[in-house]
Amino acid sequence: MTMTDTAPAAASRWTAQWRELYNEVINTGLCTGCAGCVVTCPHDVIGYEHVEGKYKPFHLEEELGLDNCVHGFGEGGGCTTCTRACPRFRQWEPEADNHLFGRVRNPDEMAGIWRQLLLTRAADPEQHEKGQDGGFVTAMLAWLLDNNYIEGALVSGVEDDDAWKAKPQLVRTKEEVIATAGSRYTYCANPLALRDAKEAGLSKLALVGMGCQTSSPPVMWDRKAGKVSKPFLFNIGLLCSKTFDDAIFPELFEAKYGLKKQDMVKMNIKGVFQIWMKDGSYHEIDLKECHQWTRTGCKHCPDFAAEHADISTGGIGKDNDWTLTIVRTPLGEEVINRMIKDGVIIARPAQEDEVAMKLLRTLSIVSRRRWPEWADGAPSVGVPPPKKKADAAPAH
Ligand SMILES: Cc1cc2nc3c(=O)[nH]c(=O)nc-3n(C[C@H](O)[C@H](O)[C@H](O)COP(=O)(O)OP(=O)(O)OC[C@H]3O[C@@H](n4cnc5c(N)ncnc54)[C@H](O)[C@@H]3O)c2cc1C
Ligand code: SF4
Ligand code: SF4
Repeated sequence: MTMTDTAPAAASRWTAQWRELYNEVINTGLCTGCAGCVVTCPHDVIGYEHVEGKYKPFHLEEELGLDNCVHGFGEGGGCTTCTRACPRFRQWEPEADNHLFGRVRNPDEMAGIWRQLLLTRAADPEQHEKGQDGGFVTAMLAWLLDNNYIEGALVSGVEDDDAWKAKPQLVRTKEEVIATAGSRYTYCANPLALRDAKEAGLSKLALVGMGCQTSSPPVMWDRKAGKVSKPFLFNIGLLCSKTFDDAIFPELFEAKYGLKKQDMVKMNIKGVFQIWMKDGSYHEIDLKECHQWTRTGCKHCPDFAAEHADISTGGIGKDNDWTLTIVRTPLGEEVINRMIKDGVIIARPAQEDEVAMKLLRTLSIVSRRRWPEWADGAPSVGVPPPKKKADAAPAH
C-alpha cells in the first residue's frame, strides 16, 4: 500500500434507528410530515394520520414507548430504514447534494444546484388550462407515462366530497394526471400513495412533491436504504414557502370573508392569497392574515426551491400562466430536452423574467433562515443575515 498525505476516511456503519429519528427529528420540530419513514418501514410499525394537526409519524407499538422500536435492536445491528429515508435527519442536505450532483452546493447557491432555468408551459390547451401555472408538471407526467419512463406517479388528488381536501393519490393514466392537476395549499404527503403503487405491482414511479418530500429518495439512495428506494425513478419538485392548516377555510376565508370552500374554483399565492369563486368573483387576502394558520411542520423548513428534485417547478414571476422550471439533474435535462423536441411544452429562458429570478433567491433565503441553529449547519451556509423586515417577503 502506498502512503499518502490524506488518509482515507474511516468507514463507519449506519446504526441510527427509530430512537434517534424520534429524538432528533420528530420531537425537535424538524419533522415535516413527509411520510418518507412511514412508507419505507419494512416492519409497518410507523403510523401516520393524514389529518389536520397530525401529519407526523408515530410508533404503532405504543406499549414499548414512543421512541422504542424493537426492530431497531438486534444481533449484528437492527433496522435503520427510517433514518435512512428521512430528509431532515443529520447531514441530509450535503448527502443528497453529493449523491445527485457530486458536490455540495456553493454557499451562494441559495436555491440549490441547477443546470437550466426555464419558463415552460404545456402545448396541449387542456393541460395548460387545468395546470396551476403553465401546466408543465401535468404535461411532464403525461409524457413520462407515454414514453415508458414511469408506470405511475404519486401525486395529490382530492377527497370525493371535498374538492379542497388533498389526499395522496397514485395516477396511472393521462386522464388521472389531468384530474389531479392544480395546487392545493394544505399539506399532502404524496409518498403515502406508494402503498397503492406497491399493491398494483408498479416499480417505475415519479414522485411529485414539495422539497420536504422530494429530498427523501436522494437521501435513501445515498444512505443505501436498499430496495425500498428503488421504485422512485423521477422526482418532480414544487417550490414551497409553507402549507396551511385546513382550518384556514372555515376560520378565515369563510368566517371573515364569507368565501365558502365549496364555492371556490381556484386559488393561488402571488404575494397575496388569490381566490376565484364559482360566481366569477375574485378575492385577494393579505398573506399576513394567513400566517397564523401555517402548518407546524413547515415552521423550520429551509427548502423553498425543492433543491433535490430532478426538476423543480414554481409559479413566481411576472406571468401567471408559465411554470418556472429548474432543471437540476442529467435525467431532468434529458427529459426536458426530449419534451421540447417532441413539442409537448413551450420553453424560454427564465432569466428573461428578472422578477422571478430575484424572488427565487429572496424566498430561498427567507426559508433557509428558518432552519434552527442547533440543527446540522449545512442549510444555513452562506445565508445572509436578515435585513430589516426581510422575513415579511411575499410567499410567491
Ligand atoms: C403546497 C404548495 C405550495 C406551493 N408554494 C409555492 C410558492 O410559494 N412559490 C411558487 O413559486 N410555487 C409554489 N408552489 C408550486 C406551484 O403552485 C405549482 O405547483 C408549480 O408551479 C407547478 O405548476 P404546474 O402548472 O406546472 O403544475 P400542475 O400541472 O398543476 O401540477 C401540479 C402537481 O402538484 C400536485 N399537488 C397539488 N397540490 C399538492 C399538495 N398540496 N401537495 C403535494 N402535491 C400537490 C398535483 O397533484 C400535480 O401533480 C406550491 C405548490 C404547492 C402544492
Ligand atoms: S421528516 Fe419525514 S421521514 Fe423524517 S421523521 Fe418526519 S415524516 Fe419521517
Ligand atoms: S414549507 Fe413546503 S417544503 Fe417545507 S415542510 Fe412545509 S410543505 Fe414541505
